[in-house]
Amino acid sequence: MDLYEFQGKELFRRFGIPVSEGRLATTPEEARQGAQELDGPVVVKAQVLAGGRGKAGGIKLAATPAEAEERAREILGMDIRGLAVQKVWIERASEIEREYYLSISFDRGAKKTLLMFTTQGGIDIEEVAVSSPEALARLHVDPLEGYHAWHGRRLVYEAGLEDPGEQKQVVKIVGQLHAAFTGCEAMLCEINPLIVTTEGEVRALDSKFTVDDNALFRLPEIASMRDLAAADPLEALAREKGVTYVKLDGEVGVLGNGAGLSMATVDVVTFVGGRPANFCDLGGGGDAQGVVDALEVITGDPQVRSIFFNIFGGITRCDEVARGILQALGQLETRHPMVVRLDGTNAEEGRRILRDAAPPNLYVEPTMLDAARRAVELAA
Ligand code: GDP
Ligand code: MN
Repeated sequence: MDLYEFQGKELFRRFGIPVSEGRLATTPEEARQGAQELDGPVVVKAQVLAGGRGKAGGIKLAATPAEAEERAREILGMDIRGLAVQKVWIERASEIEREYYLSISFDRGAKKTLLMFTTQGGIDIEEVAVSSPEALARLHVDPLEGYHAWHGRRLVYEAGLEDPGEQKQVVKIVGQLHAAFTGCEAMLCEINPLIVTTEGEVRALDSKFTVDDNALFRLPEIASMRDLAAADPLEALAREKGVTYVKLDGEVGVLGNGAGLSMATVDVVTFVGGRPANFCDLGGGGDAQGVVDALEVITGDPQVRSIFFNIFGGITRCDEVARGILQALGQLETRHPMVVRLDGTNAEEGRRILRDAAPPNLYVEPTMLDAARRAVELAA
């Protein structure tokens, strides 16, 4: 789950990382009110889950509350990379001397946490990595060993940061950011830019914070930060129903049991020349309610033209799944042709149940490849 800048900064603040004081606003009037409370020049920042807001015109300085209201009027409703701006963050303006970059992420190859720091911040880090890789200091933290202050010192030293006052502040922030990263079960914590003010104070001016979805059940407070209004309605419906669903952009709706089989189903649809409309994992079950929920989500996508139901019965019994499908078809109006492949435990019986009931528009195929071909044909 990606957090908005203001949410990430709230977490930063709790871990002691210096951030500017600010207020959230959803209307120009609230922006004026916020600026009044902050009492001084402010910056009005579009809150969208995308980077490059500055370049897109979503970040503007305002000297007075009246100006903040005007800038908020311009930014609210703006389209930034396909996302409508519904909130602005009004923050006390900073006087920037220099812009640095600091991040913590996973290096999956090394199976370690990766710290990155460069004094060439403010711009795309990918650019720095290409144009001057030597300026980008990278250092792993072994998760079994944990973070130690020497990690921070080594990192800033390797990046060539020379000012002792800045070194001290940045090293402290690296430790705090690492604590936030592990404490909030993050997958990415990025500060770009990490600024040095004209007074020599180091502060996080931006925040990019991604929390591991699989940890949200034990982080209720962070889970509640999810912006339901901004989420894709189908993905929101799926989450509500407990269905694992990822929207893709093809026409064949895919439904499998288990993540591995569902992924293989996406692959085989592509292999026979089709395009999957989604990835959907029914999980271990296959009871009628689970099937109804998954079908409801899949058929909610107007791009779906056919549905490929791929079940391998291990613990799940195919006869039960077949009954679940029939029950689901009784409860749910689907105009989409459905191709079913059942294999594994009680597959024979499952197929017989479907053949005997013979619901219209339902095709039973013996193999995954045949079923994929049929589903792709039916979507054409
Ligand atoms: P991004 O474009 O989405 O990465 O948004 P950032 O929060 O990183 O802001 C982009 C740029 O706007 C920064 O690199 C700064 O140059 C500028 N900016 C943001 N806040 C302030 C501020 O308080 N004062 C000044 N002078 N510039 C700011
Ligand atoms: Mn930024």
